[in-house]
Order: sequence, then structure tokens, then C-alpha cells
Amino acid sequence: MRRVYFDYNATTPVHPAVAEFVRPFLGELFGNPSSLHWAGREVRRFFEDAREQAADMINAEPEEIIFTGCGSESDNHAIKGLAYAKRDKGRHIITTTIEHPAVLNTCRYLQAHGYDVTYLPVDNEGQIEPDDVKKAIRSDTILISVMYANNETGNLLPIREIGEIASEHRITFHSDMVQAMGKTDLDMDSLKVDLASFSGHKVYAPKGVGILYMREGREIDSLIHGGHQEGSRRAGTENTMGAVAFGRACETMQKEMNEVNGRIEVLRKRLLDGILEKVDHVRFNGHPTRRLPNTLNLSFEYVEAESLLIALDLNGIAVSSGSACSSGSTEPSHVLTAMNIPAETCQSAIRLSLGRDNTEEDVDYALSVIPGVVARLREMSPLYKRP
Ligand SMILES: *Cc1c(COP(=O)(O)O)cnc(C)c1O
Repeated sequence: MRRVYFDYNATTPVHPAVAEFVRPFLGELFGNPSSLHWAGREVRRFFEDAREQAADMINAEPEEIIFTGCGSESDNHAIKGLAYAKRDKGRHIITTTIEHPAVLNTCRYLQAHGYDVTYLPVDNEGQIEPDDVKKAIRSDTILISVMYANNETGNLLPIREIGEIASEHRITFHSDMVQAMGKTDLDMDSLKVDLASFSGHKVYAPKGVGILYMREGREIDSLIHGGHQEGSRRAGTENTMGAVAFGRACETMQKEMNEVNGRIEVLRKRLLDGILEKVDHVRFNGHPTRRLPNTLNLSFEYVEAESLLIALDLNGIAVSSGSACSSGSTEPSHVLTAMNIPAETCQSAIRLSLGRDNTEEDVDYALSVIPGVVARLREMSPLYKRP
């Protein structure tokens, strides 16, 4: 059976050039980069090259790159680190209702520890209004955290405008840019962002490595205390293979990005047009234009997302559902719920996220499978009345 992977927002395969490049780190390049001898020095060189490649990708300085254990760690480090450092200045944080759980649950944790959090609403298309950020600012606001690209809908949020507002009010601005990297240009020099999170496995590097960008001159508390690695900002012997892979992935994607994203956008359009032509009662979730090139979030009305996911999986097609399974019950996606989409429509939403290995054949195969699967599931649905 054909296998089609449409879940690149969940994770990506390691780029072959990256895998090839890091192989020696499982062998002769084993040194601890902090060691002064030859074994450490040769690894240190590759490690610092990786820092430069990552900095280059986002137009930042190498000193502004901190390697972490994952995107979630970067979010935690940015938000808790800033909150701890500024606790005597204020305890109010502004974020949105559609952030990744790594941001939302970090904010909830801080709420349980004496901080106050404002969660900004989104409109029906999943966009936030920069003016709402301005209105939410108080004298004790210490941090604004707004993601660049939403992982479920693919929406791009107005972080340029929000950065300007934060900077005018001298409030630290953090952005979760995990989904934006490799899919849209990133320029830390022109964006007024102080802290930003990235994750290796979303850009064709392996899992278990992240980056926290921290603008020069900014200070936050450390979360992992120990040795002096990463300028004493993140202790622990470096994940050299992960970091080197991340750096190489940045360099490779910087070169390939325009071509890959151009191709993906055409495929996504073909997929969307095909689905809308062959299946009725489909709702497009998200903003029509301010979005990533690769992501589609669609509600197939009268069909349960989990059932659709399983049926597509049986046909070799990997997608994800918007809802998270918790203790046997499926909860509708917090992102779609925040967009005021009716519960049944949220429950029927699936996300298709494309990547660099997808082909026209993948799309056409999916288009040959989806209409039949949806029709079968609808026949079993008590809610669906055939026209
Ligand atoms: C995947 C993801 C994360 C978490 O990154 P990990 O490396 O898996 O911890 C954070 N934010 C967004 C938007 C993501 O898509």
C-alpha cells in the first residue's frame, strides 16, 4: 500500500544531507566540547559552526543562540526565565488562547505561583488584533508571548506589529516560532522580538534539540543550573550531534526553502481544491491568506475526526486530528474552540501538513481515497441526512 505522510507539523524526517553529515558524531567525533584536548576541540569547532548556521538562518548573532533540549524547553526557559527575573517589577503576562501547550501550560503554572495572565481572544479566522495587545497592557506587565505561526491552522500572527507595541512599552516580547522556521523568512534584526523558540525536529533535524534565541543585552533566569555551558545560560553537556544536525538543517533549508515552499504551496492548493470539488460540507479553518504554505485544517462535517484519521491511516495516509485524546474522552482542539467554531465542527477537524518529500502523486492518491472514506463514515452518522 502507498504511504503518504501529511503530518509535517507534528514532526519531519531527518534531511538525508543532515543524517549523512552527523554520522561521525556517533563515532570518532565523540569529544566533550568543553574539554581542552584534541577530542574536545574538534567537536567544539563543529558545534560553534552550527551556532553560526542557526544564527544565519534567522539573521541573528551567534551569541544570541542558546541550544536547548527541545522547543518546549525553549518556551519554558523564555517564559519562566523572564518571569523569575522580573518578579519584582511585575507579575502580569499577556499571551493568546491559541498558543502551543508548551506556552499555555507554562503560563498556567505561573498563574498557580502568583502571576496574572491575560489570554487574548482570536476571531473566527484565528487571528488576533494587535490593538487588543495594547489594551491588555498594564503597569505591571512584564512579558508578551505570541506565536508566529499556529501549528494547527497554519495561521501567521501579526508579530511585527505586536513587537512594535511591546518595544514602545518596554515590555519583553517572546514568540514561539517553531512552526515558522523553514516555512517563512525569519529576520530577528527587523522584528522587535527579544526571545524566540525553535525546534530541530520541525525543520528536518532530529528530535531532542531546540534553540532559544535571546537578543543581546536581555537577561533571564536559567532553568537548568550546573556547569558553564551555553554561557552559563543552559547547563548540561551539549547535545553535540543534535546541535550540529540543527545547524546543518538550517543551512540546508535556507538554500532549499524557496523552492520547497513554492512546490508545497502548489500541492496544498491542489489538495484543497480537489477536496472541495469532490466532498461537500467541508469547512476551511483558519485565515485564507495570512498563513504558512504547508498547512490545511479542514472540518468534514458529520464525520468524527478520530474515525477519519483511523480510516485514512488504514489507507496509508498519515494526518492528525485537532483534538487531543485525554483519559478516553476526546476534547475539541483549544485552537478551534477559541475561534468560536461550533463543537461538532471542531470534532470533525483534521490537519493535513505537507513537507519537502510530498509529491503530486501523494496528493492525487489522497484525493482518490478521501471522498470515499468520508462518504462511508457519513453513511454511518446519525447526524448526516442525505440530500
Ligand atoms: C512542536 C511545537 C513545539 C514543541 O517543540 P518540541 O521540540 O516538540 O518540544 C512548540 N511550539 C510549537 C508551535 C510546535 O509546533
